[in-house]
Amino acid sequence: MIDLLVAGGGPAGLATAILGARAGLEVVVVERRRGPVDKACGEGLMPHAVEMLRRLGVVAPGRPLHGITYVDDAHRVTARFRGGAGRGVRRTALHAGLLKAATAAGVHIDHGEVGPVSQNATSVRCSGFHARYLAAADGLHSPIRTALGLALPSKGPRRWGIRRHHLMTPWSDCVEVYWSDDAEAYVTPVADDCVGIAILTSHKGGFDAHLGSFPALQERVRGQPHGPDRAAGPLRQRVRSRTAGRVMLVGDAAGYVDALTGEGLGIAFGAAELLVECVAADRPRDYDRRWRRMSRRYRLLTAAVLEASAVRPVRSRIVPAATQFPSVFRGVVNLLAE
Ligand SMILES: Cc1cc2nc3c(=O)[nH]c(=O)nc-3n(C[C@H](O)[C@H](O)[C@H](O)COP(=O)(O)OP(=O)(O)OC[C@H]3O[C@@H](n4cnc5c(N)ncnc54)[C@H](O)[C@@H]3O)c2cc1C
Repeated sequence: MIDLLVAGGGPAGLATAILGARAGLEVVVVERRRGPVDKACGEGLMPHAVEMLRRLGVVAPGRPLHGITYVDDAHRVTARFRGGAGRGVRRTALHAGLLKAATAAGVHIDHGEVGPVSQNATSVRCSGFHARYLAAADGLHSPIRTALGLALPSKGPRRWGIRRHHLMTPWSDCVEVYWSDDAEAYVTPVADDCVGIAILTSHKGGFDAHLGSFPALQERVRGQPHGPDRAAGPLRQRVRSRTAGRVMLVGDAAGYVDALTGEGLGIAFGAAELLVECVAADRPRDYDRRWRRMSRRYRLLTAAVLEASAVRPVRSRIVPAATQFPSVFRGVVNLLAE
């Protein structure tokens, strides 16, 4: 019997596996895709996520990010990070760095499908493995979360994200968030010759149709070569509890609010740390409470911005208000950054 089986080898699963192996646990990851794996993502690591990556010993090439800029037709305002820098990192580069660290830590990666889960008071069985604990890191639409009855129906409008890379020199050292009436486009420099654009919206349509709502951005990237589009969603995933017996949910499987504030990787890495501590201490029941406490600030702020942005008269005031009260904007950005 192994100590920890990790279902899903994305950033959350690999971070959990690296930390588990370093804590002396025998860890196996089951992942269907061979890396480095790509995914629809804004690819902006907030400063607290960069700090976690450093602690994981992961080297991920990219571009430093020094703040967040909000842009609409008439306004532009930047809040710079007060502490360290964030980082724009291509998902494939991030995944390659995590894979290298996982291999160096002695993690075994089994390429296959995660199967049904069964458990008793002392162990879990899944995909032909017998483990003391299972970390379900199988992403936004986690089949394990659903099978264990941990998913809750989501409220409010459903939102999706579509991402495209343009091969061009970045023009800013911040993440720019462009606001239109019904979508946000956020632009992240991810390499010296590459800029990622992620469009978030609850409306149907392809990338080019949505890009048309951001004329200044559309003009800037016009004619620049670009890669394929990738989409993901619905983004919001509500979860009853992150623990069911000896199974713990980590990463997007543990619940997700929205990508609007760069939420995701930082919480996934923070949760990986908590999960491994709970396994090492044999206290899985502590995990849900500790996860809620660790992620509360990010979840509440993201939900607040999201709710405000869903009310049209309030939405149209967000960028003007950030421009009028830059210290408040800076305060909120830095609450999400630290
Ligand atoms: C449009 C968009 C923009 C975003 N922007 C940002 C951002 O700027 N900054 C940020 O920090 N976060 C951002 N996020 C969130 C971030 O992408 C996620 O939080 C992060 O990918 C979560 O990692 P994960 O490992 O939980 O899930 P995933 O990356 O989805 O990994 C899950 C893994 O599990 C595997 N898997 C699933 N099911 C099975 C199965 N049955 N068998 C075998 N393998 C399986 C999959 O192949 C995959 O590799 C964004 C998300 C979206 C959609």
